[in-house]
Amino acid sequence: MGMSHLRGTDRGEVQMLPPCLDDYVAVEAAVRFMDAYAESLDFKKLGFARSIPKNTGRPAYHPADLLKLYLYGYLNRIRSSRRLEAEAARNLEVIWLLRGLRPDFKTIADFRKDNRKLFKEVLREFNLMCRKLELFGAELVAIDGSKFKASNGQRRHFNAEQLREVIKHIDGRIDEYLRELDTQDAEQGPPPPPPPSPPAGDKNKSTETMAEKIARLRASREEHAALLQGMEKSAQTEVSLTDADARKMRDTQRGGYFIGYNVQVAVDAKHDLIATAEVVQSACDRDQLGAIAQAAKDQLNVTSLEVVADKGYHSADELEACENAGITTYVPAQGSTSGRSSKDGRKVFAKERFSYDAAADEYQCPQGERLKLRGTCNRKKGRQHLLYANEAACRKCPLKAQCTAGKYRTIQRLRNEAVLERAAARMAGRTAMSARRREVVEHVFGTLKQWGHGDFLTRGLEKVTGEFHLSALAYNLKRALKLKTFGELLGALPKAA
Ligand code: SF4
Repeated sequence: MGMSHLRGTDRGEVQMLPPCLDDYVAVEAAVRFMDAYAESLDFKKLGFARSIPKNTGRPAYHPADLLKLYLYGYLNRIRSSRRLEAEAARNLEVIWLLRGLRPDFKTIADFRKDNRKLFKEVLREFNLMCRKLELFGAELVAIDGSKFKASNGQRRHFNAEQLREVIKHIDGRIDEYLRELDTQDAEQGPPPPPPPSPPAGDKNKSTETMAEKIARLRASREEHAALLQGMEKSAQTEVSLTDADARKMRDTQRGGYFIGYNVQVAVDAKHDLIATAEVVQSACDRDQLGAIAQAAKDQLNVTSLEVVADKGYHSADELEACENAGITTYVPAQGSTSGRSSKDGRKVFAKERFSYDAAADEYQCPQGERLKLRGTCNRKKGRQHLLYANEAACRKCPLKAQCTAGKYRTIQRLRNEAVLERAAARMAGRTAMSARRREVVEHVFGTLKQWGHGDFLTRGLEKVTGEFHLSALAYNLKRALKLKTFGELLGALPKAA
């Protein structure tokens, strides 16, 4: 045989294996902390439902056990209920964690589905423990969004125009079949008796009769027409057939689009822990800042908070909501679009060249003239703009060609534009703030996507939100295990009820 190999022992031999299950799990294994953590929770207070197994008559599983299973899974890249069922039978750590319980995949899946709204509370409880250990700075949070894939293929997603195309295509096919039937009738006279029908399940499309083909197409047409009608009624612009809540999202990494959700997180800058998270349908971050910043402030239970976000979040209304809630924002402005004439697109003085004098409520232009309030105009979404101009000055201005394509220059001002000016003043000279933001949030999304959590397994906004809260919980748990010793963590757990 030549060289010898290590081949293990004879399976039939009587072994001196560790006498109890506990000996198979390392003293400071993460799984031991998950166990202690789940046991410390008051599931009744948290509102968890009983998990009743499929075979009725058997006692229910304790929510602590199913939560342990999910925590273990989400931390170890095992998220599907079928794989979790399998692990409960073959993975020693899981066997230890569940003390030999082997819930079936349906029970496991139902637990995640039925308690979807409660994982946020569990995350909150976990964060309270982290607060005790001073893992949160609770001074500065970075807010960002990332697109996660829905359990919905691109081909199962339509906008109104695509639906109309599909319906038109079906109509064309139906017409074709009807014409074919007509010619068959004309050539053959009365139709022959139908062939004996093939056994059930054996019927494929080639053996479908013409009438069956037409019936199938008509059913499909009706289905698509109903979707279109529903869409027109609800003013919704797109529809996904598998996960109706999912929306088209731009794929920033690979280009193109996919069907998914927009995950919003507020991450504490001290140790990159997730303070709070929400999932939204809108692909755009512009209207999100106020809500997520306030949620973070509530979660951290502080009276003031600093928030840093990228320019996608720059919106006067959202920044104003933050100001009103005692939240100091650091959000860079979008690149100015006012450097072009709206008339002929020529390059003109950007709005930044006009300085606002709040005391006089006037703008000073590059020529040194004063532009006074002339009136208002109502823009989209009921936003009111104030208009400033000085027609007489522009008429004889030597810089006019560089300033406007019209008879005189008008400057528009938002009702709450002072908020934007204050935000710009805060941002001035704070370039390091943006770099800090990137570091903090990229750690979160980078880690979760690396763990494979960038694809949701469940469907519907509520369920994917619950799923993300589980991901966030696993992420924070892993961070805490890295930052604190086992003993410190156990010491911070609330005493079991
Ligand atoms: S065109 Fe009017 S607004 Fe522009 S620089 Fe001249 S005076 Fe000022």
